[in-house]
Amino acid sequence: MRFTRLGMTFRPGQRIIVGLKGNLDQREYSIYSGENDDYLEILIREVKGGNVSAKLKNCKPGDLLDVNGPFGSFGIEPFNLFTAKHIFIATGTGISPFHSLVRSYPGIDYTLLHGVSLCKEAYGCEEYEPDRYILCTSREYFEGKKGRLTDYLLKFNVKKNMIFYVCGNSGMIYEAEHILKEKGVTQKNIISEIYF
Ligand SMILES: Cc1cc2nc3c(=O)[nH]c(=O)nc-3n(C[C@H](O)[C@H](O)[C@H](O)COP(=O)(O)OP(=O)(O)OC[C@H]3O[C@@H](n4cnc5c(N)ncnc54)[C@H](O)[C@@H]3O)c2cc1C
Repeated sequence: MRFTRLGMTFRPGQRIIVGLKGNLDQREYSIYSGENDDYLEILIREVKGGNVSAKLKNCKPGDLLDVNGPFGSFGIEPFNLFTAKHIFIATGTGISPFHSLVRSYPGIDYTLLHGVSLCKEAYGCEEYEPDRYILCTSREYFEGKKGRLTDYLLKFNVKKNMIFYVCGNSGMIYEAEHILKEKGVTQKNIISEIYF
């Protein structure tokens, strides 16, 4: 969903709170667009029976929103930008802050692991350099299939200069943190953002 930015400044990785204009129900969404884009974008998964995501899905051009923020400190520390290797780990729409980071900081050294159920959930995969984007599908077969994200992470070769950023559902985040710590990654090099 794309809407006017109205001069809002943010750091890639941050989130905003969005709802229909005047509606008390509002939810947090990571910013999907880049810091140099002249619009704001968020990537929303419609939760069946959910209060806000379904309403946002039905928005028409010209509808008004309440947008507050930005909030949060998820993202890359400026001093690490071009010195570390950034490993982005996302499930579903948890890819959103990483899209913003990649779009805002051309030239960063990153690998993006994206865990989804089905290939059609590989939102915007064509926007990443092919050798930096690894799609892990849990419920669909394709050539070169990587399987569950956390199974792939178990085989992942951890190096000293890597910083890990994990975003998505809490189950995946706890499992990923556990695997990374078993591989010797320290807590300060694991930065997480839980969606639900
Ligand atoms: C920091 C932060 C950033 C977020 N960024 C995004 C984002 O970029 N894109 C996005 O789509 N959502 C994001 N979310 C989740 C979002 O805030 C809402 O929770 C989601 O849109 C559901 O809201 P709802 O009102 O439709 O459902 P509700 O009526 O609030 O809840 C319905 C149920 O759905 C569960 N749920 C919430 N999110 C999901 C999901 N993605 N998949 C399955 N079940 C879910 C809730 O735990 C709850 O049990 C973020 C949450 C946080 C805390």
